[in-house]
Amino acid sequence: MKLFLSTDFEGTSGIVAWEQIIEGNAEYEQGRRLLTNEVNAVINGALEAGATEFVVNDSHHHMRNLHSQDLAGKATLITGRHKPLYMMQGLDASFDGVCFVSYHGSIGAEGAVLSHTYNPGAIWEVRINGEVVGESGINGLVAAHYAVPIIFVSGDEATIQEAQMVAPEAENVVVKHSLGRFAAAHIHPTVACELLRAGAARAVELARTPDAMHPPQFKMPVSLEVTFLVADMAEMAEWVRGVERVSPRTVRLASDNLLDLYRMFVTVVTLTRALVDR
Ligand SMILES: [Zn+2]
Repeated sequence: MKLFLSTDFEGTSGIVAWEQIIEGNAEYEQGRRLLTNEVNAVINGALEAGATEFVVNDSHHHMRNLHSQDLAGKATLITGRHKPLYMMQGLDASFDGVCFVSYHGSIGAEGAVLSHTYNPGAIWEVRINGEVVGESGINGLVAAHYAVPIIFVSGDEATIQEAQMVAPEAENVVVKHSLGRFAAAHIHPTVACELLRAGAARAVELARTPDAMHPPQFKMPVSLEVTFLVADMAEMAEWVRGVERVSPRTVRLASDNLLDLYRMFVTVVTLTRALVDR
């Protein structure tokens, strides 16, 4: 039983500010410990329920937030920037389940700590087949491509709600109640880790039950629309083949191949970073 963990940072109990999750700040080391404990709680719960192999893809910012020697379960850790498959690097069809750990709400979500969708300095909204999605929905394209179910999601309530689109059968664990973009009521980290451990164990049990968990389903052909903060970004995104401008600030990406679609999205995100105004 082989699990893929895509780990972000904003959805960890105790986290409400960028200073806690961006390296170079005094509070960052504390944030990193909180995240590591949550990731290990998920791995340990999954281990207890029979998972045997773990690949953890550190998906936040410079993507060097986790230290391999601190990880439970003898997990393989993927770190560093500019990974071709970004938040989903490392996933392939050999996995039995995907876990989204410490995820967060989309840029437009209400009551979502540190809400954003990939790049808060560039992306205003992302829609898949007309529906607003967060990072879970976008990353779900890769899980769907490889036909691996998303079995576990953790973060705040907004995270869980948005993940329904791609992971309606997943076990969900809420570790804090967001009060706004920079405030939350946190479940004590010890309790949060107990909940994560129990949730991950239930997720693995379900994943081992025939026909209980299914890969994400998308109505084909999939259209992915990105609305940017400014028109220049949409113009630049058009440089990518297959990207069509539908309004001054919005582009549409379309492909029959969900992995290609995700790659196009990653290319557009990387390209438009050059125009971020700070
Ligand atoms: Zn994120």
